[in-house]
Amino acid sequence: MAKWGMVIDLEKCTGCQACSTACQMENNRLPGENYQDVLYYTEGKHPTPQLKWFPRPCMHCEEPSCMHVCPTKATYKTEDGVVLIDWDKCIGCKYCMIACPYGVRFYTDEKPLIEPNIKQVFKGDGDLSWNPPYKGPQQDPKHGVGIQPNGVVSKCNFCYHKISKAPKGTADLDESNPELVEYVPACVRTCAPKARYFGDLDNPNSQVSRLISDKQGTRLLDHTGNKPQVYYVSGGGAASGAVPGTRSNTKA
Ligand code: SF4
Ligand code: SF4
Repeated sequence: MAKWGMVIDLEKCTGCQACSTACQMENNRLPGENYQDVLYYTEGKHPTPQLKWFPRPCMHCEEPSCMHVCPTKATYKTEDGVVLIDWDKCIGCKYCMIACPYGVRFYTDEKPLIEPNIKQVFKGDGDLSWNPPYKGPQQDPKHGVGIQPNGVVSKCNFCYHKISKAPKGTADLDESNPELVEYVPACVRTCAPKARYFGDLDNPNSQVSRLISDKQGTRLLDHTGNKPQVYYVSGGGAASGAVPGTRSNTKA
């Protein structure tokens, strides 16, 4: 069984947000609620500050604090290493949102980040929170895939509706392989500079494993003990200072 993980090369990432847009379309996201966000910040002081950016999906932690606090076991981990939410079990208590150190979960009934309230413009049918003009291919509440129902929490699912159908034993979901392209997560598939890699972290020969090893892959806020399955690398190795949360440690 694979242990799916992602590698993001910060040197290649141009901050274009194509990943965010592809994810919005694939996962019926509300405007402003990005499962796959790109955070912008400035570094350095006047007169030479620099604009920086940092792509940040759910980390699909090996030890997910969101899962440990969930009273209904709605948040769970699949055998292939993906952290999902069973919308049929979620009671919307938001404990998981407080426990996640990465701020990557969304509650349906929060005030919309962007006006007008698009949920009023495209009203949802039945239990669904809205009726997107663009619709992803699946509605699978047990795996937190599809249009978010009312009163539940959601987050990045690593495009579980795609990756779970990949042939067993696949080391890397490489979008340049025509036989695998349909299983590749939307953000990985759309990334023009090919800054994203997706594969089996347990396979020492997968490209993700080799990148992590060769380029000293770094995990965000690793001191929390959550053990993310999303790694960051850069040309000189992420440990050379490209990941914001680790910079002060690595310069010492
Ligand atoms: S990043 Fe947050 S939401 Fe995602 S698995 Fe880790 S603790 Fe849970
Ligand atoms: S909001 Fe839902 S997923 Fe989060 S802790 Fe409560 S029941 Fe679990």
